Amino acid sequence: MTEVPRTAFIYSERYQHFDYGPGHPLRIERLALTHELCSAYGLLDLPTTRLIEARDATEDEVVAFHRPDYLDVFRAADRGQPPPNLWDYGLGTSDNPTSPGMYAWSLLSTGASLQAMALVDSGEVGCAFNIAGGLHHAAAARAAGFCYVNDAAVVIKHLLRRGRRVAYVDIDAHHGDGVQFGFYETDQVLTISIHESGETLFPGTGFVEEIGRGRGIGYAVNLPLLAGSDDAIFLWAFDQVVPPLLTAFNPDVVVTQLGVDTHRTDPLTNLAMTTTGFAEVVRRLQPLCRRWIALGGGGYNLENVPRSWTLAWAIMNHREIPDDLPESFLTTFQRLGFRATRLRDDPNPADAPTREQAWRFVREQVYRTQRLVFPHHGL
Ligand SMILES: [Zn+2]
Repeated sequence: MTEVPRTAFIYSERYQHFDYGPGHPLRIERLALTHELCSAYGLLDLPTTRLIEARDATEDEVVAFHRPDYLDVFRAADRGQPPPNLWDYGLGTSDNPTSPGMYAWSLLSTGASLQAMALVDSGEVGCAFNIAGGLHHAAAARAAGFCYVNDAAVVIKHLLRRGRRVAYVDIDAHHGDGVQFGFYETDQVLTISIHESGETLFPGTGFVEEIGRGRGIGYAVNLPLLAGSDDAIFLWAFDQVVPPLLTAFNPDVVVTQLGVDTHRTDPLTNLAMTTTGFAEVVRRLQPLCRRWIALGGGGYNLENVPRSWTLAWAIMNHREIPDDLPESFLTTFQRLGFRATRLRDDPNPADAPTREQAWRFVREQVYRTQRLVFPHHGL
């Protein structure tokens, strides 16, 4: 008797056809790197998992959340015929360029999330992971923060149509504003976002007072963290709020946005987590997600993204994997100039300087500059 597949990994080689453009922080290569690392660990040929080819979402599916006029403008801009009111829709900015293919890319990454939804909601699998999803900033008629089509919100709309109650948990460094405000007035969707405070980071929302409106009061939850917050702080906050609320709400399905831009070396944010802390959050999410649609999200240091999401995928499959990166993958990593050789970072890195070390360092740098440069200026 063959074992029934329990998990699904949604992926397509077609992801690599798309590019936000040179200099854009969101690098689509991170998805191929994650696929390669999961594969190198043998995590894509487990008897209990299926590797599913991503499909395109249809426009009809996307308008469950997005306004048709927004899609019309986005499609026209993508074809090189940008209407004059492009900016009203958040399009054509440096964050959301209308590089050719962005429309097709958005339909593909959303289609992958809809596949994850269909597999999980039917009970075919307990958990499906779309690493290309989690584009949580897009609003119904506005692109924002590298997100054009909000796949999480589209999926939740479809789940609501099926009569499901949905919990959405967002652990990206940025507030999950597009999803939160998309479901701000309903008690059928519980949104929880833990993120760097809007005082220091885009999109500037996600304060504790944002708790929903009308019937939705109490069904939007936000935990902003100070810049510099680390694994221990994040995990403590998570434990105080997420398990009790998810247990009380008792959703039919949980959608998680697993952004990894909380990492201490992420170039766009100021939190201080490690891959070890990220994996621990995912491990604590697992028993709370009986039916689990897992989506990707932010992550702008390519050294962290594949390691973090491979750890997450191993947890989703109840697998322990060795910390040392497989030899074949190490070659890829080193070619890209990355130095990490292990999945899990040291949560107490020796290279985190004390204040005293930082002062000693800066004094030395200033002294050397004075010695090297000042004489050239007669000083
Ligand atoms: Zn983010």
